[in-house]
Amino acid sequence: MEQTSAETSSIVPQWGKHRYFPEVSERDWNDWRWQFKNHITTIEELSRYLRIPSEEWELRKRVLNDFKMAITPYYFSLINIDDPDDPILREIIPLPEEYVYRNVGFEDPLGEEDHSPVPGLTHRYPDRVLMVVSNVCSNYCRFCTRKRIMCEQTRSEAEIDRMIDYVAAHPEVRDVIVSGGDPLLMPTARLERILGRIRAIRHVEIIRIGTRAPAVIPQRIDQKLCSMLSKFHPIWINVHFEHPRECTPEAERACDMLSRAGIPLNNQSVLLAGVNDDPATMKALVHRLLCMRVRPYYLYQCDPVHGTEHLRAPVSRGIEIIESLRGHTSGLAVPTLVIDAPGGGGKIPIGPQYMLAYDREEGITTLRNYRGETYTYRDGRRNVDSGAPSPNDGFSSVCGGGGHN
Ligand SMILES: *Cc1c(COP(=O)(O)O)cnc(C)c1O
Ligand code: SF4
Repeated sequence: MEQTSAETSSIVPQWGKHRYFPEVSERDWNDWRWQFKNHITTIEELSRYLRIPSEEWELRKRVLNDFKMAITPYYFSLINIDDPDDPILREIIPLPEEYVYRNVGFEDPLGEEDHSPVPGLTHRYPDRVLMVVSNVCSNYCRFCTRKRIMCEQTRSEAEIDRMIDYVAAHPEVRDVIVSGGDPLLMPTARLERILGRIRAIRHVEIIRIGTRAPAVIPQRIDQKLCSMLSKFHPIWINVHFEHPRECTPEAERACDMLSRAGIPLNNQSVLLAGVNDDPATMKALVHRLLCMRVRPYYLYQCDPVHGTEHLRAPVSRGIEIIESLRGHTSGLAVPTLVIDAPGGGGKIPIGPQYMLAYDREEGITTLRNYRGETYTYRDGRRNVDSGAPSPNDGFSSVCGGGGHN
């Protein structure tokens, strides 16, 4: 499997259970409840595994006044603690910058609550809604768009009922996205009741679940969960991997089980400075995902959430990364780069420009390919009066033309 050279250079891995949790039995380790119960939530606990410079101790502690921290032992075991700039560490461990930038940006950058007809449900697009059914995660990502809800009360059954009633009363909704928090962290029976009620609504065609569990607590994906989910097909799952190191054998097993339950898996990544904002890391990630039968779906520019300023990579970097993928590797590996417009405009695709010009009158498009070579394409002529063109008129000589298979 492809990894960055830094990660294969050492024969003894610099991270892993054996380094940080050698005393934990395999049985506990593979039990998601153990992982969940033992997640690291305080700076004191964290300092048992990670040296925290004394001058940073106070700032990092203060982060936790505003936002939660939680890290499963499994996910912590992916960190190389010898590297202060470790990418996994940046995703999950509060840094002093998070405190410094705590008031920069927005609490709710996507205006989800302004587009919320009932609490917890966002109806932004014509035919689909987002339901935030829980605010519990096994791990709290420092860049989370919904950091605001981490410290709120858990959703009540009554609130979930109101969301489902809304969907039932809106026949235009054919796609329901069940998100959080992490819906898969709910007890299986509770999630089953929610999915069953959504599935019972005649006009709902597909149910999508957004989860980070396969990346951060893959032990959660067990046979019982998969059998439950497969009762409510068509179910789609969007997973959330940011870095190739998260694509462990455990994660691979989790994704395989979900796929075998008939659930198509798509990945959403956030472009994060110092985590995955370079072409080599992103290429390794998308290749690892395809090997796990996960299709890269979206790459998000990081939302301007409170305390994430230091993690936000510029738009130019996102474009550079897409440019480095498109044409250079399998089209299946290339996600759509999007900005979720602050204020609630929704996801807007951005990316490198391959169409250099379009002359509407003449019907001539000027294009460049991934190597930077220029081609032209001529629109079809609907009117015979415009005269029969010579066979290759309007196409540049090297243009291959048709062939879309
Ligand atoms: C992302 C999102 C969706 C789903 O968008 P797709 O482009 O269909 O994946 C729906 N509703 C809200 C509020 C969203 O943020
Ligand atoms: S798992 Fe998802 S909802 Fe939970 S903290 Fe991470 S990004 Fe936010």
